Amino acid sequence: MSKVLVIGAGGVGSVAVHKMAMNPDIFSDITLASRRVAKCDAVAESVKARTGVVISTAQVDADNVEETAALIAKVKPKLVVNLALPYQDLSIMDACLKTGVHYMDTANYEPRDEAKFEYGWQWAYQDRFKEAGLMALLGSGFDPGVTSVFATYIKKHLLDSIDTLDILDCNGGDHGQHFATNFNPEINIREVTAPSRHWADGEWVEGPALSHKQPFLFDQVGEKNMYLMYHEELESLAKFMPEIKRIRFWMTFGDAYLKHLEVLQNVGMTRIDPVMYEGREIIPLQFLKAVLPEPASLGVTTKGKTNIGDIATGMKDGKQKTVYVYNVCDHEDAYAETGNQAVSYTTGVPAMIGAAMVLTGAWSGAGVFNIEQFDPDPFMDMLNKHGLPWQLKELDAPLDF
Ligand code: NDP
Repeated sequence: MSKVLVIGAGGVGSVAVHKMAMNPDIFSDITLASRRVAKCDAVAESVKARTGVVISTAQVDADNVEETAALIAKVKPKLVVNLALPYQDLSIMDACLKTGVHYMDTANYEPRDEAKFEYGWQWAYQDRFKEAGLMALLGSGFDPGVTSVFATYIKKHLLDSIDTLDILDCNGGDHGQHFATNFNPEINIREVTAPSRHWADGEWVEGPALSHKQPFLFDQVGEKNMYLMYHEELESLAKFMPEIKRIRFWMTFGDAYLKHLEVLQNVGMTRIDPVMYEGREIIPLQFLKAVLPEPASLGVTTKGKTNIGDIATGMKDGKQKTVYVYNVCDHEDAYAETGNQAVSYTTGVPAMIGAAMVLTGAWSGAGVFNIEQFDPDPFMDMLNKHGLPWQLKELDAPLDF
């Protein structure tokens, strides 16, 4: 029985809070706070209608450490779950340290003025969390999150050693819009337009964004083109599973999405530096976000499935073996259950599970932790029980592209 404060009332926050309300034995008291309290109130109404559970709501500007600390001091939660944007990670961590409360998030810190995401800023909090006897759990979404739990599960149960690991993220959903992103457009476009990077023999190998394309046949989705990309779990996997020789991340994109993105880039709409417009500074990417559909609004029209998983090749009992652990999630089922599409669902459910790991003490420790550092079994068990069942296949051969 524990009190939790969730910050961020977007699609991910909405799913996480719905799933927490469905588990009152773990989450006895839930407060949802965000920049606009009206969004929290709308989620609270949906939670009440779907589960009968009443949650509290609050307004907070999580960029402001004092304001966030004051809210934490008032609510007195055991854990703060940060489902706002990566920009708020450090201010919310500071507020947790000020008030003596555990911290969790789903995306690593990114400065607003630089499309650069890496764990360094948050790993630098290690001593402060350790000395305070507090736990910060980083990256408990799907990717990062479940994909790293799949990797530790493979290492623990399926292979004696992992040589290569490929993370494949496929969204086979169709929202019926010409162009929209499935999670926060600003964060999504910054991520997709970054140079590709993968880990090979102890080094980062960089290439131009979206330049390495590969078709792949995804279970229950069909064949899709996937592109080599940098993704933040590559950094923590390379650190905590150093024996893996090659780690790559692939994401599928449709041709129409890529064509729109190319045009938006070419005309300068994805820039993150300020430009003068009618006498005031605006950031083109932030303006673009304002005119694109809100990800949370896509649920009602999105059909199809996501398929996200890990393919690992290594040795088992002296022989080479390739295994594939993945989850398939249906957009319409996710919407029926929580009012949100599968990209929010596949992030919000693991956020709820990560929070459950901390609150129940299944995972514990003082300091800053990535999800690869813990026993995957209780997390894998909860995935099966709470809407993201996983499947396991043995493949005939390693990925040879
Ligand atoms: P949204 O943009 O839909 O929601 C973000 C929410 O945070 C909004 O409600 C927003 O408020 C609120 N917010 C923004 N700034 C502040 C602030 N300063 N103070 C308080 N609240 C604030 O994003 P998503 O729900 O799609 O994503 C949430 C997080 O999940 C992001 O960090 C994203 O990177 C991460 N993510 C992780 C994934 C994973 O698999 N690990 C996958 C997908 C997302 P307002 O509505 O007023 O703008």
